[in-house]
Amino acid sequence: MAKISKRSNRSLRKIIIIISILFFISITINIIIYLKTNSYKNNYNNMIEQLNSITSSKEEKEKEYQKVSERLDLVNNIDERTNEVKKDFFTKAKQLEDKIIAGESNEKIVYITFDDGPYYLTYQFLEILDEYDVFATFFTIGDNKDVCYDNRSEDCSGMYALEASKGHTMANHTYSHGIWKGLYDSPESFMYQVKLQENLIKDRTGIKTNIVRFPGGAATAGGYKNRIIELLRENGYGWINWTASIGDGGNLRDHNVGWSNFVNNISANIEVLLQHDYNRVTLRILPDEIKYLKEHGYHIFPLFYESNMVNK
Ligand SMILES: [Zn+2]
Repeated sequence: MAKISKRSNRSLRKIIIIISILFFISITINIIIYLKTNSYKNNYNNMIEQLNSITSSKEEKEKEYQKVSERLDLVNNIDERTNEVKKDFFTKAKQLEDKIIAGESNEKIVYITFDDGPYYLTYQFLEILDEYDVFATFFTIGDNKDVCYDNRSEDCSGMYALEASKGHTMANHTYSHGIWKGLYDSPESFMYQVKLQENLIKDRTGIKTNIVRFPGGAATAGGYKNRIIELLRENGYGWINWTASIGDGGNLRDHNVGWSNFVNNISANIEVLLQHDYNRVTLRILPDEIKYLKEHGYHIFPLFYESNMVNK
């Protein structure tokens, strides 16, 4: 009996050991399963969160995009509306010009034009034009305009867009203005500089120019003048000189001289006034010029292709 009991004791211990081992194995497996499941769960939750955030940010982006495109539509419509208003305005201005030229109207028109810019001072010219609610025409060039001639530490490249955004007429005075530097070497060299400036203005403002002023005036082109005019016409351009000037293209420093030049030059019923937006004398007398012109019955208009003053 003692033997049997010893054996059964041993078997019992074995069984207990085996059961214990199995128990530990099972616990370990469970723990592993639990941990694994948990990490899967965490991963899964993270993925859901990420997905949610992606979806919501996509929705936000779509909303933003919607807002932006609505604003863009508004801007495009404003452009369209502005163009319509301009077209309407130019049609009426042309009708008025026709009547004045035919002697059927005593009204008067002046086109104020600024050549060779933009310059650093152009900002102040624009402010005065704004203040008096006047639109002008800028015959711009492009060479070296990333620095302003009259303040070389400044950048003039943004000025084209500013002039255009205020509704002034953007016109073409060639890119280089290089009267002594090959501009008038041939009709083609002239047209090349016109195209360069056309592209620059198009890039900066979205506007395609269609009025040219020859640097120095059309006579400066000498024997090439007629061929250049032909090429301009083929490229959709009209050209214009000026009928009045205050002589500010060179070294005009005395505002009294500038003022008397101005007063002595303004007399016709339709005037095209040549000035330069770098000259401080011009800047100083511009408000008085505008007042004088208005007091003397002049309508101050921006130039347009259809105008009788633009040669085609
Ligand atoms: Zn010029």
